[in-house]
Amino acid sequence: MIKRVEINYRGIFQKNLGKKIGSDIVMIASRMGQRAFSNGRYSDSPERNGIPCKYFAFVSPDLSEEELEAECGAKLEIDEANVSVVRDDTMCKGVEPWGWHGIRPINEKVVKGGSLLVFSKKEHSDLLKFIGKKPYEYNLAILDGDASFAGLWVNKDDLTHERTLGGIAALDPALISIEAVESYLLDKTKQKHRAEAARAAYDSLRQESKPPRVKVVTSQEGIDWTHEIPILPKWFEMPEGAVVPAVKRGFQVGPRGQSRNLTFKRGTTKSQRPAVRFDLCTKCTLCWAECPDECFDPTSDGFYDIEYQYCVGCGKCAEVCPVKECIVMVDELRFEDNSSPYEHWKSDSKGYIQWVEEKKGKDRVSYSVVTGKGVIVTAGEVMPEGKIVGIKKVEEAEL
Ligand code: SF4
Ligand code: SF4
Repeated sequence: MIKRVEINYRGIFQKNLGKKIGSDIVMIASRMGQRAFSNGRYSDSPERNGIPCKYFAFVSPDLSEEELEAECGAKLEIDEANVSVVRDDTMCKGVEPWGWHGIRPINEKVVKGGSLLVFSKKEHSDLLKFIGKKPYEYNLAILDGDASFAGLWVNKDDLTHERTLGGIAALDPALISIEAVESYLLDKTKQKHRAEAARAAYDSLRQESKPPRVKVVTSQEGIDWTHEIPILPKWFEMPEGAVVPAVKRGFQVGPRGQSRNLTFKRGTTKSQRPAVRFDLCTKCTLCWAECPDECFDPTSDGFYDIEYQYCVGCGKCAEVCPVKECIVMVDELRFEDNSSPYEHWKSDSKGYIQWVEEKKGKDRVSYSVVTGKGVIVTAGEVMPEGKIVGIKKVEEAEL
């Protein structure tokens, strides 16, 4: 028998976190007398900021090391997962880990009776608005927490790693038991609070709590998955030599006017998206010029629409926009679709301003991704329609 864990993480920002969870599952399962190994995969090579990636851990009570490796090693994807960990709840909208593989449901690999373990501050019903239906029952477990982004090769060490181990132990004790998790963490770190964090996470999923943190999801719950999964060409259908058809170029003015690679929409890379107040826009062109993914489409009246399917949520546009509250980065889970904000504004400007301010909410959240210090929350402001206030940009070095 083999049990499989997949750890869905965002490339670079959570790389070390994913790796630590995978390797510690191996160490803990080994202490329980099981055979185990873990491996990772590049979901995009080179692994880039925010791209959905996976780390895997495999555990078996009865196979030899060689048999386990023969069955699970050197695979880019697994067929099924007993526990699928989701390190950032915005990945519940679907992940496209490889160009041409399409946007996949986050629970695609979860087996019948298996578990999807999501770190989130939201409720099950909020997440199920985005998660695809399964033909069978599985558990949706939520551990309270934010996405725990760190920087390039940095581990934030905010006990998320320990809490994940406790959560896995609660959902599938045959994989790793909470006692083995605690004793491993104590032996390895000599720090009691790490074992306590794992136990608290375990308790939050095992004990009756209101509202319950583990929900059995039925085959009726979730959404019908509408993203098409591309059919890859067979090897004998590929043209000889390295023929890579060029992306058709074109720069028509208007929504979706830019030429972009239709086969590689990197929208699932983002955890936040830019929300725009067009009534505050001075048409300075900076967002259009600076966006690294060419998401802004010039419109015939000089504004810039956004094509969210290609937006990776880097926040560059919000940083360069010189007008207060004109572009604000907002939690991706607050949006149901990728429709054009410019068309919305043109059809109903007052309704759009009200809608976008509701999405923006009161707080402005940002991540200091270089040093991995975590989430920074500042107060937002609702600007009256058309009230343009410039902001002085200050260069700040993260210490
Ligand atoms: S956040 Fe802004 S700059 Fe970054 S990819 Fe999206 S639209 Fe472009
Ligand atoms: S950066 Fe801001 S003000 Fe300038 S064009 Fe873009 S949205 Fe308008």
